[in-house]
Amino acid sequence: MNHTLEFDIVVIGSGVGGATFTDYLTRKHKNLKIAILESGPNRTKEQFTQSEIDMTAFYFNNGAVLSKNLQIGVAAAKTLGGSSSVYTGVSFRPPKSILDDWRENHGLNFLSDGYVSSSLDEIETDLSIHELPKSWDNENNLIFQKGAAELGIPVKRLKINSKNCKQQGFCNLGCPTGAKQGALEVQIPRILKRHVKIFCNTEVQAVAENKVNAIVKEAPQNTIANTIENGEYLFKAKKIIIAAGVLNTPVILLRSAKKLGLKNKNIGRYLTLHPVFNVNGILKKSISNYSGFPKTVYSDYFSETDGFLLETSFYYPGITAKNNPSYGILHQDAMSDYDKMMSILILAHDKAEFKNRITINKKGERILDYTLSEQSKKSLVKALQESAKLFFAAGCVKTLLPASKKLPLIKTDVDKIDELISEKYLNLNKTPLSSAHPQGGARMGSDSENSVCNIYGKVYGTKSIYVCDASLFPTSVKVNPYETIMLLAKWVAENMFN
Ligand SMILES: Cc1cc2nc3c(=O)[nH]c(=O)nc-3n(C[C@H](O)[C@H](O)[C@H](O)COP(=O)(O)OP(=O)(O)OC[C@H]3O[C@@H](n4cnc5c(N)ncnc54)[C@H](O)[C@@H]3O)c2cc1C
Repeated sequence: MNHTLEFDIVVIGSGVGGATFTDYLTRKHKNLKIAILESGPNRTKEQFTQSEIDMTAFYFNNGAVLSKNLQIGVAAAKTLGGSSSVYTGVSFRPPKSILDDWRENHGLNFLSDGYVSSSLDEIETDLSIHELPKSWDNENNLIFQKGAAELGIPVKRLKINSKNCKQQGFCNLGCPTGAKQGALEVQIPRILKRHVKIFCNTEVQAVAENKVNAIVKEAPQNTIANTIENGEYLFKAKKIIIAAGVLNTPVILLRSAKKLGLKNKNIGRYLTLHPVFNVNGILKKSISNYSGFPKTVYSDYFSETDGFLLETSFYYPGITAKNNPSYGILHQDAMSDYDKMMSILILAHDKAEFKNRITINKKGERILDYTLSEQSKKSLVKALQESAKLFFAAGCVKTLLPASKKLPLIKTDVDKIDELISEKYLNLNKTPLSSAHPQGGARMGSDSENSVCNIYGKVYGTKSIYVCDASLFPTSVKVNPYETIMLLAKWVAENMFN
């Protein structure tokens, strides 16, 4: 080992979990020596170019970490601020039914109604979470509401965490003006003022009690230079907080299990992905989906009965091309109508199953081992049927959808939608399924038989190792997850020294 550095606390990852944890910890404990180790670079605002190609560099594997069966690609960012640097800022509180389940079946008793509502009131004020005014609804959001009203599907307004938003529309490519209130805008500037050290381009390989092994790599071109020499490092700390995100926290734990003497069979397990189809209907006329805020409304009408949410969305030409399920001339034709596309994001609720997991191969590399359940397939197919009906009710003339008997479906197909879109036509190896909400893998719970961390985030069987990110979720939260991650991070920080 070339270099050794010593701190009271080392946090691995600067995303929603890591940055929120550090913010809350340093509010109370002002004299702790804290380091955050972040594998991604520190980028200047000029690098948030809104160019789809440039921005793929912000993500692990350019935006799609593929499952072993190649059926789903997961997006997560590798950059200072983690995925909050590219998220849309859609803000949901965890549903009551989920909190009831986490309390009753996983022992997360601290999630009392009082604690949850006072914590989230505070978080929502801190991040300027609010409904956007109706005057900001762009044509896509208006047309979605029109189609839903036609079908009697109730629509609700989304809450967004933005401040001084210039309505540039390209939120998932990072915000060039810093309007979205992610870790880069809120917690990181704050904790830097409290003398927390952040080391970027610092990739953690493994941990042991009070020790972290990491490699500091050259900062990529045009990013902010490292403050320490490149090379292998040993970071020593009294407490180690792993907040590397669901794709990476279980990998670090699994690589470290032998040294830590960990035999817990649950590490990496109970992974949920909140699988997504982004689907498009083609209107007669061009719409300006790229202007305004891309998402202002959603529907949870089918959430309890059929297991999915519908949210409005907007994606760029490259992702839209990937999402359109066709080839050759048909695909070219659809893409030539890009400016006429209305867009819906389908989010299916998936059950936390032991078999779905993040694991590692002999070289310690990540394997994403996830198979869509029969129940999730049913949810997705029902969501595709309802989306098709909504497209036509909103005035679309055609739509190209996965699980569809024919491409495209046209307006006169509307009465046969439930036959034309069916599970029997769903070929997951030819279908653009994706995810941006991975959860679980180091689940929190009062019983080590079915969890990895105790209710304070401490890894069972260790003295100094904690987890503090979306990996802690015992099950899927069934809504966009970042507020819930912040809620758990706040709790872990507040109780670290109690
Ligand atoms: C495109 C997109 C849009 C989204 N939109 C929304 C939304 O609107 N609303 C919502 O609620 N959620 C949204 N999400 C999801 C949300 O961003 C994530 O759930 C959240 O950021 C996860 O927090 P985390 O702390 O678990 O991980 P992250 O925020 O991803 O942070 C993990 C950090 O750890 C670092 N890291 C990983 N491995 C290592 C290592 N070995 N060593 C050192 N550092 C490491 C990573 O680089 C990263 O910075 C979106 C996600 C994406 C990708």
